[in-house]
Amino acid sequence: MFNSLKKKLKGAVDKISKKVDEAPELESVSEEIIEEKPIKEEKLKEEETKLEEKDNKPGILGKLKKKVGSKKISEAEFDEIFWDLELGLLENSVAVEVIDKIRESLKIDLVDVPIDRKNIKDIISNTLHESISELFSSKEFDLIEVVKNNDGPYVILFLGVNGSGKTTSIAKIAKLLKSNGLKVVMAAADTFRAAAIEQLEIHGKNLEIGVIKHKYGSDAAAVAFDAIKHAKAKGIDVVLIDTAGRLHSNANLMGELKKVVRISNPDLKIFVGESITGNDCVEQAVAFNESVGIDGIILSKADVDERGGAAISISYVSGKPILYFGTGQNYGDLERFNLDKFFSNLGL
Ligand code: GDP
Ligand code: GDP
Repeated sequence: MFNSLKKKLKGAVDKISKKVDEAPELESVSEEIIEEKPIKEEKLKEEETKLEEKDNKPGILGKLKKKVGSKKISEAEFDEIFWDLELGLLENSVAVEVIDKIRESLKIDLVDVPIDRKNIKDIISNTLHESISELFSSKEFDLIEVVKNNDGPYVILFLGVNGSGKTTSIAKIAKLLKSNGLKVVMAAADTFRAAAIEQLEIHGKNLEIGVIKHKYGSDAAAVAFDAIKHAKAKGIDVVLIDTAGRLHSNANLMGELKKVVRISNPDLKIFVGESITGNDCVEQAVAFNESVGIDGIILSKADVDERGGAAISISYVSGKPILYFGTGQNYGDLERFNLDKFFSNLGL
């Protein structure tokens, strides 16, 4: 998962570190300080041990030590190094606005700032880590918790383009909810594609979860409505609504989707996008958000995505959180999004 991006980021850390290391050492400031306040040899040793004990409170000697071992890079040098990283990010389908954001936050932390010579690599790596984590909101969404605290059926609508993994993701979520003791029903509101209803029924049978369906070509909103009515009558906790895959450019289908949203009034609208399609997937999320509004994202097929561009970009560009990664074709292949885990996938 995301191996190509991981390699680029590691390469960037190495290259930036090397460049910073090659920069001339900063020394002048420290000499002035020594002259201002001379310290005897023995005293100096004593001070040094004291300082090591309380790292966060550096006195003059602390300042002195920090400056002596520092390096600095100029804006021009930074731009030169960043160009390399920029190409690497573009190759891995990272969105342009995300690259700009990473550039700006790295610049603030690295340009004309003294960088401790001994820890250059750690500093660069941490800085990159921080600039990427700014792309994500820190709030974690716990679906099980939210559903358990909800009165009446909790309605989740799934949307996205054809083949993005909606039906598979619905089945995975259904299984997750069921294994957490929640009652689930699925609504076959994709009345458009030939095999969609059967596909959902097969999952229903495998998972022993009910499916509400009408005939092909029937009104998708009516299917959703019936499923919610059924859930209310039977005390079912969650309704998962499948919808036909559609491009945001298809006005008829978008109109239909708006109707499904209006009638079912979902608590959560999840956009399912294919991680491997990179920028396309990011643009789709933005388009769906603009036309019907989305609350969160499942990035499917992350298991076969080496580039990771969508994963790193989609949240920042769309303003919506990634809730899960789809990581395979089995029901259990659903990974709750976790920033720490994401970073460990990226090797940062
Ligand atoms: P814990 O994560 O072990 O403290 O237990 P939880 O009850 O929170 O999670 C149960 C299982 O479901 C874990 O394996 C989670 O990783 C998984 N899981 C996946 N998505 C969610 C989610 O949205 N909420 C919760 N609670 N668990 C989830
Ligand atoms: P839908 O048209 O959006 O409902 O898409 P489907 O759920 O039918 O999925 C399309 C294809 O992608 C199927 O062959 C799925 O098995 C496959 N698929 C879905 N999610 C994942 C995933 O997370 N990883 C992998 N490797 N394949 C997936």
